[in-house]
Amino acid sequence: MPIHDITLTITPSLPVWPGDPPVNLPQPARMDRGDVYNLTRIDISAHTGTHLDAPAHFIAGGAGVETLDLNVLIGPSLVVDTGDADALTADVLASLPIPAGTQRVLFKTRSSELWNRSEDVFVEDFVAVTGDGAQWLVDRGVRLVGVDYLSVAPFDDPVPCHRILLAAGVIPVEGLDLRVIAPGEYQLICLPIKIGGSDGAPCRAVLIG
Ligand SMILES: [Zn+2]
Repeated sequence: MPIHDITLTITPSLPVWPGDPPVNLPQPARMDRGDVYNLTRIDISAHTGTHLDAPAHFIAGGAGVETLDLNVLIGPSLVVDTGDADALTADVLASLPIPAGTQRVLFKTRSSELWNRSEDVFVEDFVAVTGDGAQWLVDRGVRLVGVDYLSVAPFDDPVPCHRILLAAGVIPVEGLDLRVIAPGEYQLICLPIKIGGSDGAPCRAVLIG
């Protein structure tokens, strides 16, 4: 079974949410400067590149990333092409081929194409899940929702979608690279760095199948 890496590479040119700290990967020890080893420091937001959100991101006192259920982060996952949809509203989601009982769904939107650009500028009109779309996913029993740009929620209205998903224990995975992934069923493995109490964490995400 082929293993597809759907993780963005974290480099200083990776776009970040406006106002978030940029990716900074200094090297306090460098062999080309006479040190006996190389050592990189990781200076990034917990919401950098391919990452997931924990309840603590939008819910005061919410659970941290280290408590997320591995049974949700690993398992069958459906990749759905959303075509030219500009927003993932309840109506749009209802029109997509998402069978009842789907627990993990990854949306391949027109935003995937943004990763073909080499620009490091954050794009604000990415495709995202609206508040009523989030409620639709919760009502259908979805437990993990993935998107191909850096936020599951619209740029100009991030609160409702995040609150609805996180309050229901749905795990949003953001910044997936689905450019070459065909729609269909895969096995997802998505493991966040285990940072105690954190509202999010970068993860390595792969699809098998
Ligand atoms: Zn996030």
